[in-house]
Amino acid sequence: MSANHDVVIVGGGLVGASLAIALDRMGLDVGLVEATPGGALPAVFDQRNLSFAAATVNALTALGVMQRLTNPGGPIRRIHVSRAGDFGRVVMRAEDYGRDAFGQVVVARDFGEALEARLGELKQLTRYRPAKFVALGASTDGRREVVITGGAGEHRLQARLVVGADGTRSAVRQALGIDVTEHDYQQTLFVARVRPAKVPDGSAYERFTDTGPTALLPRGDRHYGVVHGVARDQADAVMALDDTAWLARLQHAVGWRAGRLLESGPRSAYPLIQVLAQKLVGERALLLGNAAQTIHPVGAQGFNLGLRDALTLAELIGDAAMDPGSDDVLQAYVQRRGPDREQTLAFSDGLARLTSNVSPLMRPLRSLGLVAAAQATPVQSFLVGGAMGFRGQVPELCRSEVR
Ligand SMILES: Cc1cc2nc3c(=O)[nH]c(=O)nc-3n(C[C@H](O)[C@H](O)[C@H](O)COP(=O)(O)OP(=O)(O)OC[C@H]3O[C@@H](n4cnc5c(N)ncnc54)[C@H](O)[C@@H]3O)c2cc1C
Repeated sequence: MSANHDVVIVGGGLVGASLAIALDRMGLDVGLVEATPGGALPAVFDQRNLSFAAATVNALTALGVMQRLTNPGGPIRRIHVSRAGDFGRVVMRAEDYGRDAFGQVVVARDFGEALEARLGELKQLTRYRPAKFVALGASTDGRREVVITGGAGEHRLQARLVVGADGTRSAVRQALGIDVTEHDYQQTLFVARVRPAKVPDGSAYERFTDTGPTALLPRGDRHYGVVHGVARDQADAVMALDDTAWLARLQHAVGWRAGRLLESGPRSAYPLIQVLAQKLVGERALLLGNAAQTIHPVGAQGFNLGLRDALTLAELIGDAAMDPGSDDVLQAYVQRRGPDREQTLAFSDGLARLTSNVSPLMRPLRSLGLVAAAQATPVQSFLVGGAMGFRGQVPELCRSEVR
């Protein structure tokens, strides 16, 4: 079988599915290749709690996805940042920035269901699933061949642009011969849902300890989503804790500002690595989302950044009107993603390394850093602007106002 498309997206995860929706509304003929069979959600739509920045909420609303959430997200109205054993503390309030919320907490599984509902409404989209990307062929007559397998065997698709949205271990990236740099943070992140005695009031808590960060994120279902980083060599022991000991550990890590934590759902664990593609484009092909950059989740930026990759691409294709895989589009993509990518990477990586640095000499500096942030409006504005996703040249859809 062979088929022609304007754009073939490999990977129907968080970013690939969002891109398919954005391109469909521009009238493009898109093929979406996903390894997971129809009727099931890709494994990445699990119980992790996603903080959507305000820019992301705006864009996903404009794309008709937020409206399809069956479980509402939890608005983040205040962010408390503190460090165990240090004296600094920062509280940022959305109202001080003229907003109702900095963003929303959405469970990845709920988001997957909303994306699936929206994808099901698209008229022009062709879905290939279960289908695995196998190889890229030659580029002839302005189209690049994509070889996939699945269902009835091998298919050859022709695309004016091939998009690698196939995650951290991207096969498209490998087929393009693009190298990566990797950093292992030697940390494991635990994620769970916890029920507090006090109903969450829109406050998110980010608490740093010597072994890693812990965050409580206010979900829409009267629970907190907890994110707890531990040194890798402690991960097995933490996974083996019974619920009482696990809750005691969390309570110790976050303190008492959010009140008593009563009950926890199941824990899942993620080893933390950074994987950065050294190039974003190849012939009639480009990378976005985790395939382009997998970053430490401490700053809650990975999907927010990947969505801005996708929306920028959609905007550039719209501007180019005709050939989505032209050199002009590819070069403009590289240029426009540069500053946001660099700043977000620096922010997330810096936060990750700083929070796991146990040197006593660093402590006063970190505390002073928090105090400075607490007092300096420009510092806070910079942090808040980044956290809300309004950094540099932001895609237009992120600006569609949803306050
Ligand atoms: C614990 C945790 C918490 C996080 N919290 C946040 C947060 O609060 N905010 C935030 O913005 N980000 C967060 N992130 C990051 C976020 O999950 C990622 O940035 C996001 O999943 C990247 O989406 P993606 O579509 O690029 O890749 P993925 O979501 O990994 O999707 C890749 C897709 O490609 C498919 N695929 C892979 N190989 C092939 C192939 N050969 N052929 C066909 N299909 C293929 C997979 O099945 C999958 O569906 C968090 C991450 C973790 C681990």
